[in-house]
Amino acid sequence: MFSDWHSALKRLALIFLALLLAGWLSGAPALVLLIGTVCYLIYHLLQLGKLYSWLKDNEMSEPVPPPESKGIWGYIFDGIYLLQRREREALLELRSIIDKAQESTAALEIAVIMINSKSGLEWWNPAATRLLGLQNPQDRKQAVTNLIREPVFIEYFNKANFSRPLNLSAPGDSSVMLEFQITSFGEGERLMLVRDVSQLHKLEMMRKDFVGNVSHELRTPITVITGYLETMMDDRNNLPQRWIRPIEQMAQQSRRMENIIKDLLTLSQLETRATSKDQSTIQLLSLLREIKNDAEQVFSEKQHRITLNCAEHIQIKGNLNELYSAVSNLVLNAAKYTPAQGHIALDVIQNNNGLKISVTDDGPGIEPQHIPRLTERFYRVDESRSSDTGGTGLGLAIVKHVLARHGGKLEIRSEPGKGSEFICHFPPERVTPALI
Ligand code: ADP
Repeated sequence: MFSDWHSALKRLALIFLALLLAGWLSGAPALVLLIGTVCYLIYHLLQLGKLYSWLKDNEMSEPVPPPESKGIWGYIFDGIYLLQRREREALLELRSIIDKAQESTAALEIAVIMINSKSGLEWWNPAATRLLGLQNPQDRKQAVTNLIREPVFIEYFNKANFSRPLNLSAPGDSSVMLEFQITSFGEGERLMLVRDVSQLHKLEMMRKDFVGNVSHELRTPITVITGYLETMMDDRNNLPQRWIRPIEQMAQQSRRMENIIKDLLTLSQLETRATSKDQSTIQLLSLLREIKNDAEQVFSEKQHRITLNCAEHIQIKGNLNELYSAVSNLVLNAAKYTPAQGHIALDVIQNNNGLKISVTDDGPGIEPQHIPRLTERFYRVDESRSSDTGGTGLGLAIVKHVLARHGGKLEIRSEPGKGSEFICHFPPERVTPALI
């Protein structure tokens, strides 16, 4: 570039010297200089004209090679042509990437929807049209909550907590179950992925029905067996000596089986029944008193010190049986696993985040690696300890389900050797009177 520029400057200097010489020889230097400058200007104007019409031609069609030119203008024409070619190549590459991205998203079974920061639909793939009926261009820029009007979806979308996907039947077709997963990106934009999980949902329903039906069918036979065994035990004096021990064990195991079936039925009802409509306002203190008395009676021989700390006026909205079963599971667990004369505390704390019911004991505590798995069905820290105490391994799963149905969650804190604390968290809207 510098050589072009230098030779252009050199050429200009030579022309200027030649003009000066011609002017000196002709005796009219000013006139010769003027004529020379005008010619020079006309040359550059002509080159500018060439550049203008070439750029104009290029705007309309495929890139046209630059006009022939020498010196600095030749360099300018070639430079612009090179830049144009590079830009065109980059554009073609970008277009092919976009085409490929569009082709691949078109082939996806999963619906991909881009939502802008104002909750408007920006772009979607054909699967979104298939699954959600989105129409282009009518639905572009429409608010997503105008098109999917289910209150659960609107709540999920507005809450902006997308850590878990949402399952919902497809708009206009209740036989299709869709799973919505949203991720945030850019400045307030969201990417929504929707997939058809009808098959999985069907299998899950079959599993729930199966567990429900089996537990239901087993309940009567097991009750009959337990009943007869208990009667035989009541009449143990008339039994041959060698039968007493086996019958005692049979009675104990059938009682355990009865408890497992009862808990399985409760769990399956919690899973399959819609959130119960018979929500009542429950006096928390009297509910907890009742649970405390039960635990004291059931474990009277262990002589625990059970303390209760709950303000008199607190009421909680929910299903009485479910809440009773959740809190009583925690208190009975505390009593079950805490050695004799231990301390169990039932504390209720209300604050701006809602309500906490905490059940603390100074029992054996739980190793940290078990804590995340405690609410899984049949998960037991210590199989022998749990079956000694008649545990079913389903208690904490029931607690977790009940709390979820009340918009709450279970928190477990424990340290081996020091004791455990099980905290039920409830959202503020479940509690009256509200804190101001
Ligand atoms: P289980 O019927 O076996 O008690 P749960 O689901 O109620 O089943 O509890 C799961 C496991 O958690 C129990 O087997 C027990 O090991 C442990 N666990 C529950 N509560 C306590 C507690 N208060 N202290 C120590 N361990 C506990």
